[in-house]
Amino acid sequence: MAQIISGKEVSKKLRAAMAEETAALKAEGIVPGLAVILVGDDPASQVYVRNKERACTELGFYSEKHVLPAGTTQAELLALIDRLNADPKIHGILCQLPLPAHLDEQAVIERIHPEKDVDAFHPANVGRIMIGDYHYLPCTPAGIMELIKETGCEIAGKTCVVIGRSNIVGKPMAMLLLHQSGTVTICHSKTRDLPEVARRADILVVAIGKPKFVTADMVKPGAVVIDVGINRLPDGKLCGDVDYEAVEPIASAITPVPGGVGPMTITMLMRNTLTAAKLANGR
Ligand code: NAD
Repeated sequence: MAQIISGKEVSKKLRAAMAEETAALKAEGIVPGLAVILVGDDPASQVYVRNKERACTELGFYSEKHVLPAGTTQAELLALIDRLNADPKIHGILCQLPLPAHLDEQAVIERIHPEKDVDAFHPANVGRIMIGDYHYLPCTPAGIMELIKETGCEIAGKTCVVIGRSNIVGKPMAMLLLHQSGTVTICHSKTRDLPEVARRADILVVAIGKPKFVTADMVKPGAVVIDVGINRLPDGKLCGDVDYEAVEPIASAITPVPGGVGPMTITMLMRNTLTAAKLANGR
């Protein structure tokens, strides 16, 4: 029986510690502030933004939500980011992705001041992660590192396989595992004999967005399996990229979907916002 790694439980612990830290900062007159921008009416994005606002309230942060119509121009969006960049109440700015197709996502990411870039998507922060000298980590990989820590699995020297090479999950995930001295392989849609590569992993992280893609024959007995995928099945249920029922009996630890990686992502956003508030105040 594998250890089921509960992102909900780990999040609860981390958020309790952050709430204490926030209260101590407030006593010094510092209130962490997050601005979230939502363009258009994508239902999934609306849910994510609502959850982020709720987390801010629970921790005692100041938060602002800017909901813009789907027809917002690039110039209007950049002007809002400029205003938030200059606003001392706001320590973190997050623009919910994906943006409507007529907007240039990369230009938007690059307009957010790197010190307020709590998603850690700005090229300056991506570069900092590459050299291992960073203030902010991208939220999903940062949360996964906390979950691996929870298993007690030492990363140094381990064979780590990351399936998926997106800028927000796969690539930074591989870099964080490398910083902890894992021996890291990144697999993607062109990888040859992916099952054979995956089977070598002591730590397997899957982020591709394909329901139940990883089957039991692709997992080494005793592996730590982290499932990042969030897929909606035709019956409306959520499932991950890993065939949980088949893989759980052979893994040493595994994350469920939902309740695994998902809750950690927002928790790490809150941590980055707290860090941003401290940095802005010389802490
Ligand atoms: P993406 O769509 O940007 O990238 C998918 C990656 O998977 C690509 O690099 C591609 O090369 C690889 N891939 C696709 N098909 C493959 C195949 N057959 N074999 C090997 N590799 C393949 O994905 P993303 O943004 O990294 O998200 C991945 C999944 O994680 C999605 O289900 C997404 O919803 C989920 N996600 C969850 C969280 C969370 O907080 N839990 C956060 C981000 C993303």
